Amino acid sequence: MTKGNRSKKRFSRRRAALVKTIEEKGIKNQQVLQAIHSIPRHLFVDTAFENRAYEDSALPIGNGQTISQPYTVAAQTELLEVQEGDKILEIGTGSGYQSAVLCELGADVYSVERHDKLYRSAKEILQELGYRPHLKLGDGTLGWSAYAPYDGIVVTAGAPVVPEDLMHQLKIGGRLVVPVGDQKSQVMIRITRTGEDEFKEERLNHFKFVPLIGEKGWD
Ligand code: SAM
Repeated sequence: MTKGNRSKKRFSRRRAALVKTIEEKGIKNQQVLQAIHSIPRHLFVDTAFENRAYEDSALPIGNGQTISQPYTVAAQTELLEVQEGDKILEIGTGSGYQSAVLCELGADVYSVERHDKLYRSAKEILQELGYRPHLKLGDGTLGWSAYAPYDGIVVTAGAPVVPEDLMHQLKIGGRLVVPVGDQKSQVMIRITRTGEDEFKEERLNHFKFVPLIGEKGWD
């Protein structure tokens, strides 16, 4: 039995309770709920926080960053409308948890992180659990053009404006989910590329994310 399988058995009741909580908060996509049910979130946080891993809250992961609140992960994933085999780009790998959710949905996952320590620890735990996303250390505000276009792009840090490079790395029909606002609060925006130079924008709920720092983000 691998470490991942063994560990999945721990906290299984708390994990089920967390799924119920986020379902009650409005998440309907059963595949997203199933992914959260099967991923051992406690392995994506420091052992000092593992007892809190199944609270519906963000937790510190070092470098002043956080693993997003499970409801937020579920909401962003639901908005992406992931289909099996979709090529999805994530900006802000952080702990690697959102990448794991996308892998569970059968996506071909690409993820960029700017902090070396987080990039390395995410890579280690994702490999240990048998997930195979493509990870890169760098500035995600520029996207990852080598593998574009994507069916979906999710930004897991708060941007001052919608990063234009990301819009242009979408396939036609592809969706970009990005929180945009000041550093205190952001509105979740979903942009769908409807044509070569045509985009549809939807503005959804308010959230609070750590800042997206980079050439097309905050200084
Ligand atoms: N998806 C992550 C998870 O599941 O743990 C959430 C991580 S946290 C809310 C946001 C992450 O975005 C942080 O790890 C931060 O370092 C990263 N970040 C901020 N600006 C970035 C940029 N320009 N490129 C790549 N990563 C960035």
